[in-house]
Amino acid sequence: MALIVQKYGGSSVADAESIKRVAKRIVDTRRAGHDVVVAVSAMGDTTDELLDLANEVAPIPAPRELDMLLSSGERISMALLAMAIHSMGFEARSFTGSQAGMITDSQHGAARIVDVTPVRLREALDEGAIVIVAGFQGFNRDTRDITTLGRGGSDTTAVALAAALDADVCEIYSDVDGIFTADPRVIPKAQKLDQITSEEMLELAANGAKVLYIRAVEYARRHGVLIHARSTFSSAEGTYVLGEGMKNPREAEGAVMEEPIVAGVATDFSQAKITVAGVPDVPGKAAEIFKIVAKSGANVDMIVQNVSATGRTDISFTVPKADAAAALKALAGDQDEVGFTNLIHDDQIGKLSVVGAGMRTHSGVSATLFEALSEGGINIEMISTSEIRISVVLRDTDLAEAARTVHKAYGLDGEDEATVHAGTGR
Ligand code: ASP
Ligand code: MG
Repeated sequence: MALIVQKYGGSSVADAESIKRVAKRIVDTRRAGHDVVVAVSAMGDTTDELLDLANEVAPIPAPRELDMLLSSGERISMALLAMAIHSMGFEARSFTGSQAGMITDSQHGAARIVDVTPVRLREALDEGAIVIVAGFQGFNRDTRDITTLGRGGSDTTAVALAAALDADVCEIYSDVDGIFTADPRVIPKAQKLDQITSEEMLELAANGAKVLYIRAVEYARRHGVLIHARSTFSSAEGTYVLGEGMKNPREAEGAVMEEPIVAGVATDFSQAKITVAGVPDVPGKAAEIFKIVAKSGANVDMIVQNVSATGRTDISFTVPKADAAAALKALAGDQDEVGFTNLIHDDQIGKLSVVGAGMRTHSGVSATLFEALSEGGINIEMISTSEIRISVVLRDTDLAEAARTVHKAYGLDGEDEATVHAGTGR
């Protein structure tokens, strides 16, 4: 008998029919002899609808009240799910985040889990009940208020529960079959991976992949939680996300797992490029510039600096499109102090990243990328690397084609086109 934590995203519990389907899946797991703890998201687009409502009554809703409102979405789905399980003849009990002991800091809308005290969940499990927990929400001990963990936070709830209860696996269910070598909407020949390391998953997520939330993967990595990302709509195995020293449970059953050099290709359309031109080439200028950018709240990703021929140099960097205006404004305000000549804003870029732990031990990985792009006639504007990632910035109009070319060059193309669900993967 195992203890299994299951997380169901909003698209898996969008209506009564779906809730019944999920209830059946939970009951099947229980019937197989396992203890089951479920973290559930709000039904369908409930959270977005509640947000819209809030914005209709107030231009800037109070953060405390917004969390009160948004946390209600998960309360609806958890209670309905428990009822659906009851009607199948099984014992189930639902708990809010605070009843489940999900203790967070006090940051409304983006709270971090600081402790999990699942006393009531253990009691319920001991009494033979299936436990349902509202995802995405917690409780702060100082303010004694309800908090939410940020959009997509139910993944983190599930992983935190799995860690606190020492679960055997944390199954994250959505409307996609697992983690793919690329976004199937961009690269139809993307294939589902049997496994991926959490390190690779973090790099992919940080560079545009949207299947799992970064915070949840980080939490799993830190606490040694095995994640299994899979589909609500099929019983097929999904993708195991393996932390350090973890083994794919399927391997123990004798399945052969191959470890590719490149795990996946990520595409990101969300960045903009800012160039600070004509920066005096003297020590301290980069420090000044990035201090100004940091103060504006913009999150810098890639940076390149040109060699200077004339005593002046250009520094380009990327930030999320949404942060660009603030960064530009802050820089323009300090133009005289820094002494640069002008600012260039370009939001028509796309970022392509290739990720794989095999890069540590294999040479020629970057050569393959550059060759593929060159054969495709695609111009590279910026390059950055980490130990297990190479990223390039291109024209946004080139990104999809570049990604397909590169995916193929690394031998990642599957035989068939991946089934693209209408869903969002949540
Ligand atoms: N319902 C919340 C959201 O839509 C949390 C989640 O789905 O994980 O962001
Ligand atoms: Mg949702």
